[in-house]
Amino acid sequence: MNNINYPIKGSCQCGEVTYELFEAPLMVAACHCKECQKLSTSAFSITAMVNTQSVKFQGPLSDWSRVAESGNVNGAKFCPSCGNRIYHYNPEEPSKLKLKPSNLSDTRIINPTMHIWVSEKQDWFQIPEGAKVFDKQP
Ligand SMILES: [Zn+2]
Ligand SMILES: [Zn+2]
Repeated sequence: MNNINYPIKGSCQCGEVTYELFEAPLMVAACHCKECQKLSTSAFSITAMVNTQSVKFQGPLSDWSRVAESGNVNGAKFCPSCGNRIYHYNPEEPSKLKLKPSNLSDTRIINPTMHIWVSEKQDWFQIPEGAKVFDKQP
């Protein structure tokens, strides 16, 4: 991708939580599971897997978690004021974060190369050609 300048700044909807991403994500995926549809209030959510060291957060973050089908704990951080989801994490894998990157100022980097949980996908959504597709969690 051309002309992407790091760091890229991000912020929640109200601006109380801000962050900077210092390097390209390891991978970007769209998840079509029902939980992500609820979370995004849309057809899917986008996740950018990043090294924990490559992102710096500022401002208060609230915490919530649920147990995923895999048995892993899905931790979630969100803005206590506007509720905007900032990132997800697995407490057993602290070196990586799953950034919810739609609130970055440059969203060109969040074009998903992988679509997961397409078994729960909305019928009207067409997976772009060339993207990797998985029925569930790969
Ligand atoms: Zn906020
Ligand atoms: Zn999901």
